[in-house]
Amino acid sequence: MGQPDDIIAGMDLWHCALPVTGRRDHGIGSVGGSVEVIVLRLTTEGGVEGWGEASPWVVFTGSPEASFAALNRYIRPFVIGRRVSDHTAIMADAARAVVHCTEAKAALDTALWDLAGKFAGKPVWALLGGSDPKPIPLSCSIASPDFAADKALLVRLRDEGGRIVKLKTGFKGHAFDMERLDYIRSQHPEMRIRVDYNQGLTRDDALAQVPEVARLLPDFIEQPVAASDWQTMADLRFRIDVPLLADESFFGPEDMDRAIREGICDGVSVKIMKTGGLGRAQQVARLAAQAGLAAYGGDMFETGLAHLAGAHMIAATPEIGLGCEFYQARYFLAEDLLASPFPCDNGHVTVSNSPGLGLVPDMDKVHRFVMKTAGG
Ligand SMILES: [Mg+2]
Repeated sequence: MGQPDDIIAGMDLWHCALPVTGRRDHGIGSVGGSVEVIVLRLTTEGGVEGWGEASPWVVFTGSPEASFAALNRYIRPFVIGRRVSDHTAIMADAARAVVHCTEAKAALDTALWDLAGKFAGKPVWALLGGSDPKPIPLSCSIASPDFAADKALLVRLRDEGGRIVKLKTGFKGHAFDMERLDYIRSQHPEMRIRVDYNQGLTRDDALAQVPEVARLLPDFIEQPVAASDWQTMADLRFRIDVPLLADESFFGPEDMDRAIREGICDGVSVKIMKTGGLGRAQQVARLAAQAGLAAYGGDMFETGLAHLAGAHMIAATPEIGLGCEFYQARYFLAEDLLASPFPCDNGHVTVSNSPGLGLVPDMDKVHRFVMKTAGG
């Protein structure tokens, strides 16, 4: 049921580049200098604003230019003049309007949930079916090619209550991976350790190296080989005694179904930037749980705005039991975009009871970091 002023009258986009504090290497590529995101604002005739973010990574999900064009050119006609209460129909039209571009669809879905929450006076997590959300354990990635920098980060994390790290492996040789894994285990016994190759290994290298890493008993090992190499994922599961997780190998509920049938993993990384929306992320988590698979809430290179969307989704999805990775706002960006700090304390992320997402971007920062904009 619509309300008199819930007609969407404006859709503004900002393509922003946010400076980061260092370089991070991964099996499929590096990130340094800055990360680029698309900030989306929907404005109703009554002046209520809803916010969303598309956070693509060019080697994984797509480009910021594609997200910008998807929203500005192909999705805009299905948004302007529609009611906030047409949320489901708008998302169905967006899905038909442009293929892929899941980050753009996640931004649109987020902004529509933010508006719906503001109209209903409820937080997004409540609209998504959550009740009594608990603090979400935070995992921070260790991914610098300069391990001295990560040693300092480990100390900071420990001092700030962090108890989970994910070691990014497969970008600088097996010896470097083993050395860092040994170091963290011996020097930071308080930390639980996860390992993520981001597709960094060939099949042969994976079959040789992953079992050796598994003997050090990390909590899980993620995506050692190419996204498309489902056969090696399925084979590796039987050669290691720790859970094997899939990330790049699947995006939405459709390929989650197939991943379960083909037995490629023991757990999954659920990301709204891969699924193209919060409800679809919940669907992935539920499919995984029904098949007995574990799940954590992952992210791309995001600001606190996209982190908020993911946090509300996880807060409403008990099937995601392995915490979240929303660390960039606090531990990677030189400055976050949000007007108030992303709620992350003592190693946990929390969501508030405020209507919608609960926080908004700082427009001075949006304007300072913008490269390209579009409105109307
Ligand atoms: Mg991953």
